[in-house]
Amino acid sequence: MNRDPHHDTSDWHRRAAALSIDGRAFIAGRRFAGSEAPRAITSPVNGEMLAELASCSADDVDTAVAAARRTWMPWARRGALARKAVLLALADLMERDFDELALLESLDSGKPIRQTRTVDVPGAISTVRWYAEAADKLHGELPAVPPGAVAMVTKEPLGVVAAIVPWNFPLEIAVWKLAPALAAGNAVVLKPAEQTSLSVLKLAELAAEAGLPDGVLNIVTGSGREVGAALARHMDVDALAFTGSTAVSRTLLAASGASNLKRLGLEAGGKSSNLVFADTGDLAAAAGKAAFGAFYNQGQVCSANSRILVQRPVYEEFATLLQQAAEAFAPEDPLADAAGNGALISSAHTDDVAAWITRGRQDGEVLFGGGRKTICGSDAYLEPTLLAGLAAEHDVHRDEIFGPVAVLHPFDTETEAVALANATDYGLAASVWTSDLRRAHRVAGELVAGTVSVNTVDALGNTTPFGGFKQSGFGRDLSLHAFDNYTAPKTTWIQFG
Ligand code: NAD
Repeated sequence: MNRDPHHDTSDWHRRAAALSIDGRAFIAGRRFAGSEAPRAITSPVNGEMLAELASCSADDVDTAVAAARRTWMPWARRGALARKAVLLALADLMERDFDELALLESLDSGKPIRQTRTVDVPGAISTVRWYAEAADKLHGELPAVPPGAVAMVTKEPLGVVAAIVPWNFPLEIAVWKLAPALAAGNAVVLKPAEQTSLSVLKLAELAAEAGLPDGVLNIVTGSGREVGAALARHMDVDALAFTGSTAVSRTLLAASGASNLKRLGLEAGGKSSNLVFADTGDLAAAAGKAAFGAFYNQGQVCSANSRILVQRPVYEEFATLLQQAAEAFAPEDPLADAAGNGALISSAHTDDVAAWITRGRQDGEVLFGGGRKTICGSDAYLEPTLLAGLAAEHDVHRDEIFGPVAVLHPFDTETEAVALANATDYGLAASVWTSDLRRAHRVAGELVAGTVSVNTVDALGNTTPFGGFKQSGFGRDLSLHAFDNYTAPKTTWIQFG
């Protein structure tokens, strides 16, 4: 394990400069330069070039899918115990190269190194271990059938699984897909986001070192339009697991319908509300968590609690406490060990988020934050920002901003709060703060969301399913439910009488 706690900032920058980064794709167990012109990847941390990323073509996607097609059955036939051993070995190798994975993830995405070392990388490792351990516990059924027969229902792998993932949690979300898919006996062709492909490419090398047979995990890099769309319309891909925007989700549904009806799991966008009732016991604790829910990961979280609805008697006090709590999410050099927040994914995305702040300022007010910063020579940094005074119908309340920008809004009654929270096209998450047990159950039951957190925000774990209602998509990541995306029940009926 390589988790030396004695790094100062200059040390992380020095280690970053010394990294040798390979941006080539990974197909059939080998690095591959891609058939199209490579793309220069710059780090949002400092705007400096990180790597030349391979751009795969549709033909390269065919090669990767063919490799997966050849290898999935032998991988499945190795049996669950063997698959478990390989995935456990992968987790051990991720521990060995822990700091390199964390540094790659920070440089590629702008996340603070503190976060990648405490959340992203350990989270990904724990998920690989969890599905490794689950591999040999996927039991079938022996349903009741008439005398003279026995029927077995087994959970069969689907074959070739494509995964298309976004840039906000590049390693973790990739692992949410590939760990259960591989554990169940599928082969995977994964397309990372073009902004953040480096940690997953490293992961594929570690998987090969762990003993994963060539072709069972392939990483095709490049643009969504070329590589992602080629996977979506591919006739030889059995299932497609996606996390990303609702807009791209629609194109994937259409592509599945127009090709081979491949099974889809879609984790799309969100606009989640945090309901703070006046009977919340510890308002300061609620404000601390609310700041986390809105500003963590620079607010680039699909389940970000970016609508904060507060009951009127505690509204003013809560706003003050939230401002204090938000200080912990001030942007800093992401490679400084104590950095609260880091950079957004790019300067261009920061422009888009800043435009929302401008709109909020025009139509309402900025209660705190709003400033853009240049740090380490990059202008992809934004202060945590709270908007207020905006009508509940305003786009700020309805649209995903995907940056460190939240909106505060008062409410009077429980009914009003639930109606406000449910008035979006999304249904990914919601949080409720109250010390009244009856209210907690009542409100949680009425909120249309895949996860409702009570007296916390954004609760998530390997053991609990994560996914959405409404236009936040369907299918679930994490927990045993994720196996439903990557397996199908098969009935074997044996007549003996
Ligand atoms: P995006 O939809 O633009 O891209 C996601 C992935 O899809 C990328 O790999 C991209 O290259 C690919 N892609 C783009 N166009 C494509 C196409 N036409 N065909 C196939 N693939 C294509 O999303 P993003 O900007 O990378 O990420 C932000 C979005 O992801 C937000 O909407 C956020 O809410 C969502 N997200 C959802 C979850 C969840 O679990 N529900 C988690 C994280 C992020």
